[in-house]
Amino acid sequence: MSGAGARVRSMGTLWHPFSDMGAVEQTGELILTRGEGVHVYDRDDRRYLDATAGLWFTNVGHGRGELADAAAEQMRRLAAYSTFGDYAPDTTVALADRLEGIAPVAGSKIFFTSGGSDSIDTAAKMARRYWVEQGRPDKTVLLSRSKAYHGMHYAGTALAGIPGNREGYGELVPDTAQVEWDSAESLRATIESVGADRVAAFFCEPIIGAGGVYLPPEGYLADVRKICTEHDILFVADEVITGYGRFGGSWFASSALGLEPDMVATAKGLTSGYAPMGAVLVAPRVWEPFFRPDAGVWFRHGYTYSGHAAAAAVALANLDLIEREGLLDGAARVAESLHRELAPLAEHDRVVEVRSGLGAVAAIQLADPPTAMRFAVDIRRHGIATRACGAGAIQISPAFVMSDEQVQELAAALRAGLDEME
Ligand code: PLP
Repeated sequence: MSGAGARVRSMGTLWHPFSDMGAVEQTGELILTRGEGVHVYDRDDRRYLDATAGLWFTNVGHGRGELADAAAEQMRRLAAYSTFGDYAPDTTVALADRLEGIAPVAGSKIFFTSGGSDSIDTAAKMARRYWVEQGRPDKTVLLSRSKAYHGMHYAGTALAGIPGNREGYGELVPDTAQVEWDSAESLRATIESVGADRVAAFFCEPIIGAGGVYLPPEGYLADVRKICTEHDILFVADEVITGYGRFGGSWFASSALGLEPDMVATAKGLTSGYAPMGAVLVAPRVWEPFFRPDAGVWFRHGYTYSGHAAAAAVALANLDLIEREGLLDGAARVAESLHRELAPLAEHDRVVEVRSGLGAVAAIQLADPPTAMRFAVDIRRHGIATRACGAGAIQISPAFVMSDEQVQELAAALRAGLDEME
């Protein structure tokens, strides 16, 4: 043998994001080949109940042919074109109109991105530019919460409330500050110490996701929204996880709670992950300075794939499907089911807390946090695909089509896995 064929493959080639590759080299990769409903299958055709809907995104379940058909039809017609300047594929325009119709604030404009981190960077830059356009260029400080996850571009990393996610890069974005995740008073105190005339925006996940599924304390979101209004600070809802139904019963947590954000960062559930796409829903207050006739204001920001037509076609088909199958209510049912079935696990001596009860999300906080990664691998023996999140919690965020029986099956498997822990 010669050339590439002679090489011994001692290590995998794929560099997995957010992974200890030294450990992956030891344990190997779990290579998936297909999915159907709430299940995924590996190369040996072993079946796993997908407890996390991938990374909180396959909200309509796997294997939805109509989403593939929508992409294929669009790709044959016009896969994508630029949306810079005055160009726009018809499908992209249709999706923007559709999103305006369901946005938490009427009259929103839609700025498309390629994913959640893009949406956060877009919102961060838009917030600072907005204040420049208002003649208040000193309003630059971006606030976020401890435990927060806002993606991994520069802005999102600088806003990260999970300490490990910020470490090792130096200061990426000047003028960022953090408040306590569960205290509106902490936000008020920080604004007062920094000076409201210096603060541009507050970034807030309605339910903290990757930081460990922490539900907002009663009244917290209404309080922080009010504090932002009082101090003339933009309120940015990061609904990358909660958007498009996962909050349960409505398209967005912000609509359900009447938060009226100045911007909503979204991605994931927009296409149920069938195509990479994000969107920032921008309320009139923020877009108006950029749309004044003859003012010559450009927002010099955007991505090659902003408003990608094939992704937009998938998004439209996905929103149709959610509506047709009543999956906003489906998510509310899954939320209740998770709360009911997982709560008893809190009594297990390997568990300190089960966080659930709002949205189709839950976390099982293990008593010994470093064991969470191992648990997430070992539970595959019971046919469950999940992952560790936060500091030693197990993430649960299934598709909105998971049945009550499947949630029971999940709870039983988790209990069996906990019983087997050494
Ligand atoms: N914001 C939140 C709340 C998220 O959960 C995520 C991803 O998990 C992001 C932003 C970043 O999204 P993406 O990974 O698509 O860039």
